[in-house]
Amino acid sequence: MRIDIITVLPELLESPLSHSIVKRARERMLADIVIHDLRPYGKGKYRQTDDYSFGGDAGMVLMIEPVYRLITELKKQRTYDQIIYTSPDGIPFSQKVANRLSCLENIIILCGHYKGIDQRIRDHLITMEISIGDYVLSGGELAAAVITDAVVRLLPGALSDETSALTDSFQDGLLAPPVFTRPADFMGWKVPGVLLSGDPSRIREWQEEKSLERTERLRPDLLEQKENG
Ligand code: SAH
Repeated sequence: MRIDIITVLPELLESPLSHSIVKRARERMLADIVIHDLRPYGKGKYRQTDDYSFGGDAGMVLMIEPVYRLITELKKQRTYDQIIYTSPDGIPFSQKVANRLSCLENIIILCGHYKGIDQRIRDHLITMEISIGDYVLSGGELAAAVITDAVVRLLPGALSDETSALTDSFQDGLLAPPVFTRPADFMGWKVPGVLLSGDPSRIREWQEEKSLERTERLRPDLLEQKENG
């Protein structure tokens, strides 16, 4: 899968996408993540990428020309399945959306900044808009990093134990069960005995029970969603 991320602040994306599972997926060529600095596509001597908004509202707006130029160049090289804009008013990001995106071949993620982006970019170039939650960030970079991380770890081969993605929270509409590691007894705080039993079917049964119990207690809305398909 190839993910092209367009930003005016490439530095903000470098570290989140250079460690752990995402790093490994990139090294294994499962994910080709290319971060594009929008600045060189900017106008004039100062490579301007944003300007004041018409109507006099406070805050700078990302201009359409540099974005159009870069996206047009990318589109000449390959076909994109989705051109995503990260935005507080987009569809809520979820494991379901991550699963869907992980099946695509090529996507672009455009990060907004300051006041947002010229509406004509959204009307004519963007095919999907995603929000990572009901709050406002300074820029789309952290949102793009969240989306990329959640998607890339789902690519086959990205996790060393592939089945572990299946037991993560939300994957089956439930929260994950609690996990423990050594020591089995820390100052009298003991690991549940069943996990030490070595009996895989009893362990699975316990985990399913705990998953359900935690979901009922912490996120009953997930169970309703599951029932309603
Ligand atoms: N004026 C806009 C917010 C701009 S915030 C509004 O009220 O809707 C600046 C940029 O940060 C946005 O262009 C977007 O790309 C990004 N951003 C902010 N909050 C976000 C969120 N919850 N999810 C995804 N992207 C977000």
